[in-house]
Amino acid sequence: MSSDEEYCKEALNQIVDLWPKSRNGAVIVGSPPIVSEQLRPLLANEFNPGELAIAFPGPALILAVNHAGAETVIDVHDATNYPWRARFVNVHENASGWRLASLAPLCPVCFGTGTNEGETCVICYGKGWGAG
Ligand SMILES: [Zn+2]
Repeated sequence: MSSDEEYCKEALNQIVDLWPKSRNGAVIVGSPPIVSEQLRPLLANEFNPGELAIAFPGPALILAVNHAGAETVIDVHDATNYPWRARFVNVHENASGWRLASLAPLCPVCFGTGTNEGETCVICYGKGWGAG
């Protein structure tokens, strides 16, 4: 495993610790989500704060790390074994330049395909992960 991949795994564990937690099994924690001061330095500019509205029941079980160029994708299961995908982008082109671009659960309607009954999925807008 490369130092880039190790850095992203470590950053993801920090992010999951700082991510909104579910309470009483509720998944949605409400909006507008607040980006905490601790979380902010770990996020890329393109990160959508709306993703924080979906709680992550930690800890993350890392299943796969795929690093290619300036992007690293980490597939994980949350504490309920639901699949999530984290995408990191490198903003400084060095081993400590990785920032989170997205952390989102598998779309419960299209299951990652981005299409539903032949149409672009209206829940994840064709991305296959997250909601909106
Ligand atoms: Zn979908």
